[in-house]
Amino acid sequence: MTPTTPDETPFARLSDLTRKLEATPKRLEKRALLAEFLRSLRRDEVAPAVHLIVGRIFAESDARTLNVGWATLKKAMAGTKQATLNPEPLTILDVSRAFAQVAEAHGPESTKVRRRILESLLGRASEDERDVLLKNVFGEMRIGVNDGVMLEGIADAAGIPTDTVRTAHMFLGDLGLVAEIARFEGADGLRSRGLRLLAPMKPMLAEMSEDLGEVLKEHGGVTAIEYKLDGARIQIHRRGEAVRIFSRRLSDVTNSLPEIVAIARSLPATEFLLEGEVVAIEHAGKPLPFQDLMRRFRRVHGIAAAAEEIPLRLYPFDLLHLDGRTLIDEPYRVRWELLERLVPSQYLTARRIARSKEEIESFLKEALEAGHEGLMAKHLESTYSVGKRGKKWFKIKPADHLDLAIVAAEWGSGRREGWLSNYWLAVRDETTGTFQMIGKTFKGLTDAEFETMTERLRKLATSEERWGFHVRPEVVVEVAHNEIQRSPHYPSGFALRFARIVRIRDDKGPQDVDTYARLKELYAKQFERKGRGPEEL
Ligand code: AMP
Repeated sequence: MTPTTPDETPFARLSDLTRKLEATPKRLEKRALLAEFLRSLRRDEVAPAVHLIVGRIFAESDARTLNVGWATLKKAMAGTKQATLNPEPLTILDVSRAFAQVAEAHGPESTKVRRRILESLLGRASEDERDVLLKNVFGEMRIGVNDGVMLEGIADAAGIPTDTVRTAHMFLGDLGLVAEIARFEGADGLRSRGLRLLAPMKPMLAEMSEDLGEVLKEHGGVTAIEYKLDGARIQIHRRGEAVRIFSRRLSDVTNSLPEIVAIARSLPATEFLLEGEVVAIEHAGKPLPFQDLMRRFRRVHGIAAAAEEIPLRLYPFDLLHLDGRTLIDEPYRVRWELLERLVPSQYLTARRIARSKEEIESFLKEALEAGHEGLMAKHLESTYSVGKRGKKWFKIKPADHLDLAIVAAEWGSGRREGWLSNYWLAVRDETTGTFQMIGKTFKGLTDAEFETMTERLRKLATSEERWGFHVRPEVVVEVAHNEIQRSPHYPSGFALRFARIVRIRDDKGPQDVDTYARLKELYAKQFERKGRGPEEL
C-alpha cells in the first residue's frame, strides 16, 4: 500500500491559531498551541506556516521581499470585492505560493502582476484570513510569537530539548527549516546540520563592557584586543571555486562584492569560512561614511562602476572552518593563529594582547585616532558561540553624553543611606513640553556631591513617595551611556545602558536638556550602524 499524502491544510486553521495566540498572554499556552498546530501539518507546510505565524513570510536568510507598497495593496483590496462569490478556500500552501510569486514578479508589468496575485489571494480570504495576510504583508504580526516562543513550540512539537532546537537555529538561520527538520527528522536531524559551508550562520555577538577592569577580570587577566572597525560584518564561505558571502543578517551579498570574492579566491586554501568587517574607503585609504558602504551592499546593477566609486577594504578577524576542519570549538587563540597563516598580514585586523588597563587604553586611543569605532576584546580561550551574545567578546567604545534633567530621586541604602542618590533621568519632549524618563543612575557623584544634591532636590520636591521624591526638572546632569536601547519599561520607549553622571551642569537649565527628538535620532543612527534597522541587510 502506498501512503497517501494528506490534503493541504486550510489557511483558516492558521488564522484561527493566530487569534488564539493573540488572545493568550501566557507563554506556556502559546507554546502548547504552536506545538499542537505544528504537529498537525504536512512536511511541506511546516516552514511556510512557521514564517507566516511569526509574520516574516520568508526565511531570515532569504533575501526576497514582497515589494508591495500601500498603493498596490489599496488597489488590490478594491479589486477583491467582486471576486468573493464562492471562493475556493485557501490553503497554507496557496498563500505561500502566492507570496513567492509576488516576490518574484519582475519587469515592467510587475506592479500589475503583484496586484493581480494579491487581488486573487485577498478575494479568496475570509475577513480573519485577510487580517493575517495583511499583517504579514506589512510585517506587523504582533501576536506575541517571537522567534524564542516559536523555538519552544517547535521543540515541544517534535519532543526534543529547546536547546537543541535553538542551536540548530543559530546554524541554519531559518526558523521554518528548523521546524521542518525537528518535526520530521528529530534531534538527530538537527544535530547533523552543524556548520555548513556556503550556507549562512548566525554570528557570535559581543557585550558592551562596563569598565576595562571587568574585561580583564572576565578574560582571566589577559585579553586580545582588536580594532573595532566601523563597517559591516560579513562571513565569507569558500569551497573550491564556489564563494558565497553573507551579511550579518544572513542575506546573500556575494554579487555586490566582487572584489571580496576575488580576495576569497586568492587565499591559499580550498575550503574555509572566514569572518571579517568590510569598510568603504576613499582612494586615499580613509574610511568613508557608513551610508556609502550600505550603497555598495544594496547594489545589484552597475556593480563594476560602484566598486570603482566606493572601494572596499576587508579586515578579516576570525576563521571558523579551514580545509575540512570545523574550528567553532577551537579556542580563539588557535583560530587566530590559523587565520594569520591563511591571510596576508597586511589585511588582518590590527590586534594586540593586553594584560593591563593602560595597554587597553593606549590601543583604544590609537584605534580612535585612526578613525575606528573602538576595540573588541576577546577571551583567548573562548570557543565561538554561534549566534550568542556574551562576555567572551566585549566591545569597548567611548561613551556618548547627553544632558538630562533629574525628575525624581530615590533614597539610597547601605553606604548611601540618608541621601537621595538614585536619580531618574529624563529628556525634554519639545512637542508636549513634558519630560520623558529614559533611565536611572546612582553612579558618578562623590559623597560630598550626594550630600548637596540631596538638599537641592528636597527643595524641588513636587510630591513625596515611600521611596523618595518627584522633583521639578531643574537640575541638569551630563550623563554618559554606552548605548540607547528600546525598552518597554518607560513610556518613552527608550532606556540608556550604563548611564552614569559625568558632571552636574549648573551652567544649564531645563530648556537646555537634550530633546526626545534628538534621542530618537541618536537611536536611529546607532541602529543603522549596527545593521539592525528594518531596512538593513
Ligand atoms: P555591535 O554591532 O555594536 O554589537 O558590535 C559588534 C560588531 O562590531 C560586529 O558584529 C562586527 O560587525 C563589528 N566589528 C568590528 N570590528 C570587529 C572585530 N575586530 N571583531 C568582531 N567584530 C567586529
